[in-house]
Amino acid sequence: MVKDRPGLDKSVQEAIPSLVVVGETFADQDGFVVANDMLERFPTLPIILYARQDMTGHAKSALKAGMTGYLYPPLKMEDIVNEVQRSLTRARKLGDWLRREVKRTTASLEEKAKISEAERVKLEAIISNIQDGVVVLDDQHNILLANRMIRDIFSLGDNPLLGRALEDVITNADLSALMARTREGALKYHEVNFDDGRVYNAQYTPIPKIGGAITMQDISYLKELDRLKNDFIHTISHDLRSPLTAVFGYMELVERTGPLNENQLEFMRRLQGSVQHMTNLVNDLLDLGRLEAGFDTRRELVQPENVLKYTLDVFDAQIKKKKIKIESNIAGDLKPLRANPIRIRQMLDNLVGNAIKYTPEGGRVRVEMSMQENQIVIRVEDTGPGIPPEEQNRIFEKFYRASNRPQGVEGTGLGLAIVKSVADSHQGRVWVESKVGEGSAFVVFAPPRSSRAADQAMIIFVERDAPALCFFGGAATCD
Ligand code: ADP
Repeated sequence: MVKDRPGLDKSVQEAIPSLVVVGETFADQDGFVVANDMLERFPTLPIILYARQDMTGHAKSALKAGMTGYLYPPLKMEDIVNEVQRSLTRARKLGDWLRREVKRTTASLEEKAKISEAERVKLEAIISNIQDGVVVLDDQHNILLANRMIRDIFSLGDNPLLGRALEDVITNADLSALMARTREGALKYHEVNFDDGRVYNAQYTPIPKIGGAITMQDISYLKELDRLKNDFIHTISHDLRSPLTAVFGYMELVERTGPLNENQLEFMRRLQGSVQHMTNLVNDLLDLGRLEAGFDTRRELVQPENVLKYTLDVFDAQIKKKKIKIESNIAGDLKPLRANPIRIRQMLDNLVGNAIKYTPEGGRVRVEMSMQENQIVIRVEDTGPGIPPEEQNRIFEKFYRASNRPQGVEGTGLGLAIVKSVADSHQGRVWVESKVGEGSAFVVFAPPRSSRAADQAMIIFVERDAPALCFFGGAATCD
């Protein structure tokens, strides 16, 4: 028996009692408060309230406070025994239930831990044995996981990688360019080239709350196949050019050999149309071949707005015929490009030509040239049929023509492939923004001429139009 609060706390500290009977008032404190304090520390402890007299609401309050019983005078032995037994039984049942619950929860947690550990081991085995390079990064680009293949690809041996910044461990310009673009979200196609000829396609996938993952697949054999195919196309195109020129020439001669009747004239016109189409195709293929082979290294100072004037002149007849409204907006601070003027002309001819070709009569074509983040931005916008979203990536592939293009509009399907190759060879990028039924906007982003003195030297050599040794910041190239 204890009579004050310190005494109570001390005796509870020494040994947890089997049962507590607390008075309605205990050492000047409300018995409910004392009971509440004890239940907070020992939730299964049976506590009986001993009230001065039976009062309505006492029993209810005692149960609400979590006590197990309620006694009041006059005390009878039988009542005391019953109440104590009931309280002990209830406390025992509560204790049993609690132990069962703890056991059940622990077992289920252990099971879950076993499963997730097994899954982690399985996942780790899959990632390490996968034939693609995989590296997982946190949002600061520190390495969280790298598989065996990544070590092989970058010849990293057994160097410790975990926790280190990616750029400290792997120095590869193409990979750095990929990392610089990770803010754009998921990146599907990005080539990583190696000096020994290997080519990998790198993909970047953001992982929420972790950072991101880079996966790399070896596409060297596909590149080799592509090269063989391109060589083949280039040879064929080259060989076709001379006979086509001959066919064209003889067709013109036919008309001079004597008068032709109506039918013959019509057939000659159709023949000329077809031969012209084949010649365009062959010329486009030869251009693409040269661009893809990397032969296009001629660089001069090119003001894109001057090139645009020539392009618009060429399409003048079509613009008038289709009553197309041409708008242009050229920024006053537009810097020059360090580029091959012939290729820039080809790029604008294709973009503006397509805009005019695909826009219906009375439509509008708008060309904007501006500076954004020290990059030259060329935007060609039209009110044509637009391009379905699922085909927007594919239209830059060779020979791909969108399914919704208006019937009867001629083309080789090579124009945008040339545009992309020109953009790539000038360290630029091109993409399309389009909505079916509203129109399309083709955007080219390209770096301006750098202010390095080496570039000035290059311009002088190139303008003399002779092969020359050119220096780019210390590296020698030949134009
Ligand atoms: P093509 O010779 O067929 O015009 P391109 O390579 O220039 O070939 O373009 C590929 C395809 O992209 C076109 O066939 C057309 O379906 C679509 N396309 C290109 N430019 C536009 C445009 N301005 N508006 C709508 N569709 C376009």
